[in-house]
Amino acid sequence: MRYSQYLLPTLKETPSDAEVISHQLMLRAGMIRKVAAGIYNYLPLGLRSIRKMERIVREEMDRAGAIELLMPMTIPAELWEESGRWKEYGKELLRLKDRKEADFCLGPTHEEVVTDIVRGTVRSYRQLPLNLYQIQGKFRDEIRPRFGLMRGREFIMKDAYSFDLEEAGADAAYEKMYQAYRRIFERCGLRFRAVEADTGNIGGTSSHEFMVLAESGEDSIVSCDSCEYAANVEKAELRQSAATAAPPAASLQKVLTPSRKSVEEVAEFLGTTPDRLVKTLIVETDTGEIVAVLLRGDRELNDIKLSRLLGCNWAELASEETVLKVTGAPSGFAGPVGLKLRILADWEVREMSDAVAGANEKDAHFTGVNPERDFAVEAYADLREAVAGDPCPRCEGRLEVWRGIEVGHVFKLGTKYSASMGATVLDDQGRERILFMGCYGIGVGRTVAAAIEQNHDENGIIWPMPIAPFQVIVTMVNPNDEQVSLAAEQIHAQLLALGVESLLDDRDERPGSKFKDADLIGIPLRLTVGARALKDGQVELQHRRSAERTMLALEEAAARVAQQVRTELQMD
Ligand SMILES: [Zn+2]
Repeated sequence: MRYSQYLLPTLKETPSDAEVISHQLMLRAGMIRKVAAGIYNYLPLGLRSIRKMERIVREEMDRAGAIELLMPMTIPAELWEESGRWKEYGKELLRLKDRKEADFCLGPTHEEVVTDIVRGTVRSYRQLPLNLYQIQGKFRDEIRPRFGLMRGREFIMKDAYSFDLEEAGADAAYEKMYQAYRRIFERCGLRFRAVEADTGNIGGTSSHEFMVLAESGEDSIVSCDSCEYAANVEKAELRQSAATAAPPAASLQKVLTPSRKSVEEVAEFLGTTPDRLVKTLIVETDTGEIVAVLLRGDRELNDIKLSRLLGCNWAELASEETVLKVTGAPSGFAGPVGLKLRILADWEVREMSDAVAGANEKDAHFTGVNPERDFAVEAYADLREAVAGDPCPRCEGRLEVWRGIEVGHVFKLGTKYSASMGATVLDDQGRERILFMGCYGIGVGRTVAAAIEQNHDENGIIWPMPIAPFQVIVTMVNPNDEQVSLAAEQIHAQLLALGVESLLDDRDERPGSKFKDADLIGIPLRLTVGARALKDGQVELQHRRSAERTMLALEEAAARVAQQVRTELQMD
């Protein structure tokens, strides 16, 4: 491809409405353009990366035995009424009417449509197992679409649905998809983790999320440094430690802590450290209950673990007013001693002795606080957020904490959709059986955006070779120099003949601006053809990832580059 003939509108300035790096760089590199909030054009360069990602997905889905089909984006309401989701799904479902006033929606996911296909076409257990997938545009009417392709309203997704006679078969299908997903993200050249996740509102019995590691990620995840264990922080289990509390040595004493409210302020004022404080949180639940939760001062509450323990939907910090009412003091001075509330505590609190805690009185704390001696705890449990260095729940290793971007999700659905929609087959005894299902999604555009979040520098994108829009950019330093242009044309032609995807920058632009664009669009390899080196019969090769430059003889440059591309495309 010739740059001068291509549609590649790069921008020098960062668009003001783009908050995250991938959004900024995709706009600046001329990959996407906004049409409406959360709705984008994929310009030629952006589409090339999307298509490469799709190809990797297709190959691995096919290898795993899944079969591609294509379902419509526009779905009649009746199907969603059968599953009950027409009412349940909420405002993210874009509903519309046709000219006959019939209700439709734009599909955000296709469990209903695919279940309808299977119940109408699969009659016998002999046709199973079956795994059907598609790569298609989807629509979710996000309330706040932002971050470009990271959270758009219309987006490209691969969704697969498995159907099995027995639960064991569904488990095997899930495992196959899990392995296929690992291969897909490995082949894309991304650093990622597969983490245990909550099943959320899709329902079902078990799920894993695939997270691309990036500092800008919205999700916090933990993984073990020595085994395969990885989980969303919300879900990360912590073990009860074997440590026990030292026997109480100090007596309970009230001390003044004027205006010291935060754990850090109190610790500093009393000449101690945050881990010697008992943090007392007054928490309110959706069932209207108010409880006190105790944590070591340097820990954070995991409200999902607390909700699970209490059997409620959500638990959040009580209002200032409620805190004043139940403790008699403004927030910052709550403590377990003398508190008339249910008290729940994290396991670690049991290991504390002679600690500091609020005195339920403005500007006062207690020192010499000891659990059991000075207050009673209804239950000790795992209630805190995991942190780096915590022990792994599965082995003797330690947990590491990462930021991640969710790019894939695998679910066991059980019979949620097949039962409500009557998807059954006859088994070998001629009995009618409800099918077990699984669903498996990959955000294609989101993965490409996540790849940029993970791979960039201050000058632009640094594509992993497998999803780079082009593999090589050949920069003609001065297109008006006949020798330079001839040599660059020749290398470009040789590269194409060798099956390498080459972009020839033949524009009549200053060299500096060409190099800037090359950095911005992030093509992995750059061959520079300039007059000076050409006098010695040489061209310069530079990798986008490193500053190192190598001089290559003109006649062997194409072959060397082709070899480098092949090396970088191979899986580990
Ligand atoms: Zn482990």
